[in-house]
Formats: sequence, C-alpha cells, structure tokens
Amino acid sequence: MKPNSNYKNLKDSYLFRNIAMKVKAYQEANPDKHIYRLGIGDVTLPLADEVVKALHRAVEDQAHAETFHGYMNECGADFLRSAIAGHYKKRGVDLSVDEVFVSSGASDELGDILDLFAYGKTTALITEPAYPAYLDASIMAGRRILTLETGMENGFVPQPGMPVKEWSDSQSDDKTPDVIYICSPNNPTGSVLNRQQLAKWVEYADSVGAVILFDAAYEAFIEEEDVPHSIFEIEGARTCAIEICSLSKTAGFTGTRCGYTVIPGELERDGMKLNDMWVRNRTTKTNGVSYIIQRGAEAVFTDKGREQIQKNIAVYKENAKCLMKALDAAGISYVGGKNAPYVWMQCPNGLKSWECFDLLLNEIQVVGTPGAGFGSCGEGYFRFSSFGSPEDTAEAARRIYELWKS
Ligand code: PLP
Repeated sequence: MKPNSNYKNLKDSYLFRNIAMKVKAYQEANPDKHIYRLGIGDVTLPLADEVVKALHRAVEDQAHAETFHGYMNECGADFLRSAIAGHYKKRGVDLSVDEVFVSSGASDELGDILDLFAYGKTTALITEPAYPAYLDASIMAGRRILTLETGMENGFVPQPGMPVKEWSDSQSDDKTPDVIYICSPNNPTGSVLNRQQLAKWVEYADSVGAVILFDAAYEAFIEEEDVPHSIFEIEGARTCAIEICSLSKTAGFTGTRCGYTVIPGELERDGMKLNDMWVRNRTTKTNGVSYIIQRGAEAVFTDKGREQIQKNIAVYKENAKCLMKALDAAGISYVGGKNAPYVWMQCPNGLKSWECFDLLLNEIQVVGTPGAGFGSCGEGYFRFSSFGSPEDTAEAARRIYELWKS
C-alpha cells in the first residue's frame, strides 16, 4: 500500500496546541490567577429555546412507529432545504430546493467538496490570512496552491490582481486559479468584502473559468447594509460560485453539527453540472444528517428561532464592541469586530504575534490567538474572539487598555 504522500507536506498544526500548552504551564505556575480567554473560536451560549424544543419533538418522533424516520435524503430533508431556500429568498436570492445541500458542518464540506475538482490538475488560490482548513485540505488533495496575502494597507480585503505567491513547488508561470477561497466575514481578521469588492471576484472568476468557494460561516454577524450575506446576492455568481455555510456560529451548533452548501444549477465546467456531481457524491459518500438534528436546524429559520439566535449574537457583538472601545481608547489599530466575532489587532510596539501572546498572558492573563498561525501575513497581528463571557471580556478589555494606554 502506498500512503497519500501529500500528507508529508502538511505543516504541524501547532497553533492551538502551543497555546494550550503555554496557558497550562502558566496556570500551573500561577494557580491563583484567573485567565481571560479571548482565544476561543467556539461559541459559549446554549442553543436557542426554539431549537431545543424542536430537538425534543424530533426525539419523540423517533420513539413512535408512525412518526419514525430511518435514512434521510442524503442531500438533506425537504423541510430543511425549503427552510434554507426561504431564508435566502428574504434577502432576494432565489434558490430551488435542490440547489441546497444539508451538511454536518462547513469543515466537512470544505474538505469533501474538493472531490469535484480534477485530481492533480487543480490550482487553488487561498486568500490569506485564512482559516487553516483551506490550506490543509488543499494540501491533502494534492492541489497546486497559490496564496494572495492581504494587509492593513488594504484593510485585509483580498482583490483580484493583487500579487500572488506560489506555495507549492510548481514552476508554472501561469497563476490562473481553478478554485478561489473567499471567506467573508473573515476568520481570523473579521474583515468583510462589500458588494463592489465581491463583484470584482465574481467577474474575475467568470472570466477565467474559476470556481469561488465562498465561506459564509459568519454571515449572521453582518450588520452593514452594503455587505452581502451571500455571494449569490452578486450578479453572475450563479455560474462561478459555491457557498458553504454553517449553523455553528449562527445558532451555536458547533457541538450539534449542521450546515449547508449551495450549488447553483447553472454552475458547469466542461459540460458537467457541479450540482449533479455533488448529488452523485453525496448519495455515495454520506447517508445524510440525522432527522433529529435537521428538525433542530429547521427551527433556526423560523421567526421565533431567528429572534432568539439574534439575542445570542447580540451578546457576542457587545463583547466585540467592548474590545474595540478599549483598543480605540489605547490608540491601537485593528480591523474587524463590526460584522464578525473577531477583532484583528496590529500588535503594538512592533511586537511579533507570539511575543504579544506571551506578554498578554504573563502581564495581564489575557489569552488570544497569534496571527502568525493563519498564514505568514498574519505575523505581527493578533486575534481576539468575542465568544467569551461578557464579564471576562470586559475585564480583559480593561486590562488591555491599562497595559497599552499611551
Ligand atoms: N469556516 C470558518 C471560516 C470557520 O471559522 C469555521 C469554524 O471555526 C468553519 C468554517 C467550520 O465550521 P463548522 O463548525 O460548521 O465545521
């Protein structure tokens, strides 16, 4: 047997392990100190009441022969696919039910979807800083990888035409991608692409025949009018984009697991319809998401469910505001926080990301995530998450201000 040698090209993912080790060592040496955790990318508030009720009802359904469900449609139950299509409709995006695929979450899809693109012949463009799964999944699948780095000078907003670097050892001069990863609102930077900026990517992808993998995992945090929640709000996207979304951050489903993927009927390459290919893929490689979870997810899209999840999101947004206020008062530059649960800070005084981590942990017991873990252009930056408790976030913000006020 020959193993997939692409795995040799993966870098050790030491980011979160390293953070955990450093925090553990600090806590052992300082057992009396409370640590303020702003590093987590996981939600902390419980599921909305409407979701919990729907889950209970679905468990009860499974207890009786008349309402029992066995295998579900591999692409998703009609009731949930319709509810998701209805959610898009409210934003003016028309989707047919069979353009929506229910998944167990965005991570699963970001890896699996690469099955649609020719093995050994696909060039992936990753806009950085980036959620690490894009790079790792592309490496595992043996893709040629290009990176496009953003920075403070462009507000961490990637645009076509910006310089592209070769990540793999390809000698090819042709820097045209087949697949483009875009995440808006972005993890880790919290930056967003407005309508015009996203339209430039759609125009570019259509002109070179690339497919955009649009990660909309944080769309529910968007509050500015001019920021699209879905790439399908942009004209022309139906022939060049796949959208991957998740209920993890929208509705606290990180441990419950449900997401969805949209593949328009018009999306074709070489006469092959990607939607049909994905149906074939799903009916082969999964037996779908459980009935109980899909009923819980359906409740997210009801009026009452929406209202309740918005209340949770409002708590995280208040946390982000509190952090931004402290950074503003201390005169520290950052992006994000407004349309996303992440605040991306430029490390003050020329500190490197890990130096900043050590300083914050040792001096004020605040834990965040070093930007260097999200690609080399993340060096010198630091991610704060707003998923912590309001009390801890407020105290952490106060300590950050006290440490760096001029
Ligand atoms: N995409 C982004 C940008 C994320 O930050 C995350 C999780 O943190 C995911 C996808 C994965 O989401 P899920 O929990 O649905 O797998």
